[in-house]
Amino acid sequence: MAWAKNSNTRHVPHAVQRACFDRDEHRCRRCGYEGAGRGDLHADHAVPQHRGGTHHLDNLVTLCVPCHKLKTEAEQAASVKQRAARRRLPPTPHPGLKPPGE
Ligand SMILES: [Zn+2]
Repeated sequence: MAWAKNSNTRHVPHAVQRACFDRDEHRCRRCGYEGAGRGDLHADHAVPQHRGGTHHLDNLVTLCVPCHKLKTEAEQAASVKQRAARRRLPPTPHPGLKPPGE
């Protein structure tokens, strides 16, 4: 099996990142900020990688650093909330069962 370059990395390949910025005209899709320098725009995964999102252009959106940070924090907060909701509650005793000794 051939090793698919960058298929399993966290970072978007540069060529795909560039295509994302070109498509979005080098502007943040949330606030409209125009990138002024190297590194002030990010190619963000619309569907996060931990939820199966890929580096495909269709899954990428240009965001400025502050908007990317806010989005990431919101996703992390939602994830924490979901994990808390999935936690098992302690089993409630059956109403017909009496504790020993009663
Ligand atoms: Zn922005």
